[in-house]
Amino acid sequence: MTDVEELVADEGRLEWDTPLFRTALAQFEQAIPYADVNESIAERLRYPERSVMVAVPVRRDEGHVEVFPAYRVQHSSVLGPTKGGIRYDPHVSLGECAALAVWMTWKCSLLRLPYGGAKGGVRCDPRALSPAELQRLTRRYTSELMGVIGPQEDIPAPDMATNEQTMAWIMDTYSMQVGYAVPEIVTGKPVALGGSLFRHEATGAGVVMVIERACQRLGWNFPGQRCVVQGFGNVGGIAAQELASKDAAVLGVSDISGGIYSEAGLDLGAVRAWVAAHGTLEDYPDVQHVTNSELLELPCDILVLAALEGQVTGENAPRIDAQLVVEGANGPTTIEGDAILAERSILVLPDVLTNAGGVTVSYFEWVQDLGRLFWTRDEIRARLAEKLADAFDRVWALSEEKGISLRQAALVAGINEVAGALKARGIYP
Ligand code: GLU
Repeated sequence: MTDVEELVADEGRLEWDTPLFRTALAQFEQAIPYADVNESIAERLRYPERSVMVAVPVRRDEGHVEVFPAYRVQHSSVLGPTKGGIRYDPHVSLGECAALAVWMTWKCSLLRLPYGGAKGGVRCDPRALSPAELQRLTRRYTSELMGVIGPQEDIPAPDMATNEQTMAWIMDTYSMQVGYAVPEIVTGKPVALGGSLFRHEATGAGVVMVIERACQRLGWNFPGQRCVVQGFGNVGGIAAQELASKDAAVLGVSDISGGIYSEAGLDLGAVRAWVAAHGTLEDYPDVQHVTNSELLELPCDILVLAALEGQVTGENAPRIDAQLVVEGANGPTTIEGDAILAERSILVLPDVLTNAGGVTVSYFEWVQDLGRLFWTRDEIRARLAEKLADAFDRVWALSEEKGISLRQAALVAGINEVAGALKARGIYP
C-alpha cells in the first residue's frame, strides 16, 4: 500500500474511498508540510463534516418509479455556510462528492469567500431523462435535503448537467416548503429570480482572466497563444469564446462526441452555431476530427482541461505537448499525471484557483440576494477580476517563496485561512 492508500484505507475514511477522494487527500498531504497547521487541525480537515445519502424516487414519464442514489457532502463550516454545486452524472458517488467538497473548501478560502466547501449530486444519466423527469428528480432531491441546506447552512449551485433551470426548481421547492421566496438558497439562478448578471459566464471568463495573469507573469504575449480546450459546455465553451475574443488562437475544442482541430484556428461562432443546430460537434465540416484523448496530446501552447476529472494521468502525461496546462474542471489531473508534468516543467494552473470565478460570482449573487440590491454587469466583472488577480498573486508569491508548485501554494493559502479560523474557534465543546 502506498502512503495515500493507507491514509484513505484507515477505517475512519473507508466510506469516502474512491480514486478522486484519494487524489484530494494526497494533494492535501503534499501541501500540509508547507502550511501553518498543527496535526489535530489537519486531522479534522481530512474528514468531511457531514455526508448525506438519500434515495430519490422519480416517476418516469411511462409511469413506473425509478430510484436514484443521491448525495450531499459538506466538508467544512468553519468560515461560514458550505457552498458548492450539484451534478447529475452516472459516476456520482459519496467519495466523488467528498473530494469535490474538499476542493470547494480550499477554493472558497483561497478566494477569501466566507464559505466552506460542499458538493452534491444524483447518480443518473441526465441525457436519458426528459425535462419533466429532471424536474421531478430535482424537486424530490431538494425535499430530501431540506434539513441540511439553507441560505446560512449550505447553498447549492450548478455543476455538471445542472443549470439555471435546475436552480430555479430548487429555489421554488425550498420556497414552497418554508412559505416565502428565498432566492438566496441557491446561486446560478435565472436573473429573473434574483440570479446575478455574469454568473453564467463567470467560470469560463474567470479561467481566461487567470490565464492572462499567468501569461503576464511568464512574460508571454497573450494574443496569438495557440490553445486547445477540452470541453465545450459552460466552462470550456465560454473559455474558448473568451480566448478567441482576446485574440488567442483556439485550434481545438471537444465535447462528449470527440474533438475538432484546425491548425489555422477554429471559427468559434460557426462551431457554436453547429452545436446549437446539431447538438454535438460530430460531423462538423472542414476540420480534423480527433478523439478526446487525442485532443489532449495535440501540440499547443495552452491546454485547457474543462471537461471531466482524471484526464491527464501517468499514462498520457508524458505525451502532453503544451507549455501550460489549465484546470477549468475540478480534479482533471491525477497525482501521477501532475508529477510527470512537473518533471517535464509544464506549468499547471490548479483548479481551485483557475475555476474559482464561478463560486466567486455565486458569492456576489448571494450577497446581492441577501441585500436585495443588484449590481451591474461591469461592476461584477471588475470585482471578479480583482478577486482572481489577488488570489493569483498570493499563490504565485507563495510558490516562489517556498519553492513549491502552484497547486501546493494554492492549497497552502486555502488551508491556512481555514486552519487559522479553526484554531481561533477551537474544537467544540
Ligand atoms: N460547481 C461550481 C464549482 O465547482 C460552482 C460552485 C458554486 O458556485 O457554488 O466551483
